[in-house]
Amino acid sequence: RRQGHIGVQRLKDRLIRQIRMDGPLSVSAYMQTCLHDPADGYYAQGAGLGRDFITAPETSQMFGELIGLWAVHQWQAFDTARPMHLVELGPGRGTLMANALRALRPHVSPDGLKLCLMEASPVLRKTQTERLAAWQPTFISGLSGLPAAPFILIANEFLDCLPVRQFVREGDVWRERIVGLNDAGTLAFGIDRSDLTLEAASDLSPNLRSAEAELQPGLDGLVDELAACAARGGTFQALFIDYGPTDTPPGDTLRAYKAGEQVHPLAAPGASDLTVDVDFGRLARLAERAGLTVSGPVTQAAFLGSLGLQARLDHLIKQHPDKAELLFTGAQKLVDPSGMGTRFKVICLSTPGVPTPAGFG
Ligand code: SAH
Repeated sequence: RRQGHIGVQRLKDRLIRQIRMDGPLSVSAYMQTCLHDPADGYYAQGAGLGRDFITAPETSQMFGELIGLWAVHQWQAFDTARPMHLVELGPGRGTLMANALRALRPHVSPDGLKLCLMEASPVLRKTQTERLAAWQPTFISGLSGLPAAPFILIANEFLDCLPVRQFVREGDVWRERIVGLNDAGTLAFGIDRSDLTLEAASDLSPNLRSAEAELQPGLDGLVDELAACAARGGTFQALFIDYGPTDTPPGDTLRAYKAGEQVHPLAAPGASDLTVDVDFGRLARLAERAGLTVSGPVTQAAFLGSLGLQARLDHLIKQHPDKAELLFTGAQKLVDPSGMGTRFKVICLSTPGVPTPAGFG
């Protein structure tokens, strides 16, 4: 705990010194440093996962199990002669994948599967390597390392931590929000006075009537890499689960969590998780423009429901009657209409010509 405190102060002090010397940072540069700084970044330390916020795979084993079964099902429509290539982006503590692999084990053996993970944090890479050892995962350091063979990709709560640029409208012009210093010399939000170039502003056009807008450049990079894969003749289905609106673009959604509590995004750099709503409408537009097939977004409740959550729950309760209540509560949280069930959306980006993925009917 003490160490955590010293860590926060260290990153905060460094950011303050840096801003004093070089000037303010964009919100995306701030977010990138807070999450991924090699010494003091939130994920680089990796300690907060499962404590500062709870994700769906950590809520119920059924989440990962259903996604594992979804993955084999999709794979069977592809090319069953080759080993199955399964990719996960941002596997966290490896819980989703551990549950997915247990569920698909009756259908695929470890030598029939190539597991490929992309994880920025060395601490989490170690956890994932240990936890998934039987399946001998390999790691890629970026999306350009995606397999040349057909693959199924899954990513839960990965997109929401891609750094965001924030914009504020002042009259007719958009300006970028920045992180600088206030009179007291501590971190504070401000506005960069320069008008945005038309190019940057044009991507905001769907937001033109609102006063605030967010843009995750990482979504463009992701779609570019997937499109490049498709252009090389690749075949894939890529499933993304995250929170965010279906079509209205997010305004200012940057928030920070520490020990389950929401804190100010500038309060604890490196010691709090920083996250934003994913602009699913924009992701879908980018993917379509790049020639990919888009399924969804649908709500997590609809997706898991159509994959047979109820049947899986009944089956597990029959096998483990002593755990009935725990299983039931977990399943209920995943599809809660006033929580995860509707806040979370599921979208699938595929190469053209592959069958419509299950769960989007
Ligand atoms: N999918 C897990 C963890 C979600 S937290 C779950 O559902 O529980 C986000 C995960 O993405 C972490 O493992 C984090 O280290 C990883 N991550 C975030 N940004 C990344 C990036 N740019 N490249 C690789 N991994 C990243």
